[in-house]
Amino acid sequence: MKTRPYILAESHFRNLKDASIDLAILPWGATEAHNFHLPYGTDIMESDLLAAESARIAWEAGAKITVLPTIPYGVNTGQHDIFLDMNLNPSTQLAILTDVLEVLDRQGVKKLLIFNSHGGNDFKPMMRELGLGFPEMFISTCNWYQSVNKSEYFDAPGDHADEMETSLLLHLAPELVLPLEEAGDGKEKKSKIKALNENWAWAERKWSQVTEDTGIGNPKLANKEKGAAYFKAVTEKVAELIIDLAACDMENLYG
Ligand SMILES: [Zn+2]
Repeated sequence: MKTRPYILAESHFRNLKDASIDLAILPWGATEAHNFHLPYGTDIMESDLLAAESARIAWEAGAKITVLPTIPYGVNTGQHDIFLDMNLNPSTQLAILTDVLEVLDRQGVKKLLIFNSHGGNDFKPMMRELGLGFPEMFISTCNWYQSVNKSEYFDAPGDHADEMETSLLLHLAPELVLPLEEAGDGKEKKSKIKALNENWAWAERKWSQVTEDTGIGNPKLANKEKGAAYFKAVTEKVAELIIDLAACDMENLYG
């Protein structure tokens, strides 16, 4: 078995003890129902596999990076009544991030990319607060699912267990996808409050009232070819970000 030197969990102290790492990547998923046909760990697998492939491309281009183990739980406060959807409160996430940053800062790894796979995770307010506490650290985040224009790859819109996620899983872990005839149609009920549908006003959605099957977006047109093309596009785009972050001079970021 060949270990991947850019994955911390597969690295050995013998090789790592004298290494210099510019950027740590922290993939962050969630454990939650994904319509009837995708597994609860969908966001974890996406985190693991998209981060690893993006890191491979960046590593081969010379970036000094390491991918930390994925955090498997996300913020699922709006899904509290959906069976075994796990939840980390935002305050718990802040505590985890604080401890991770404390290690990186002390060890001289001064840049972090939080690689997010789950819409309920919102790291920006935490990053503002952590930036004050760790002034030597450069803390960044990305939502890979916003990195390329989904409509160039998929026909049906959606944002949870939709055509995009189903295609990705058909590419990455087809043995875990149930037959698409068993999937619900992922129909989303819109809010009766007009402004909440216009994306400038916000209230947390009570997921079980918005969708019957937990999905948002019809997965029926998903296939593995679409998943493979999208996987390639996303990982190439994220690799660019990783290369740029690893190389950037934190004292000279603008201009
Ligand atoms: Zn998901």
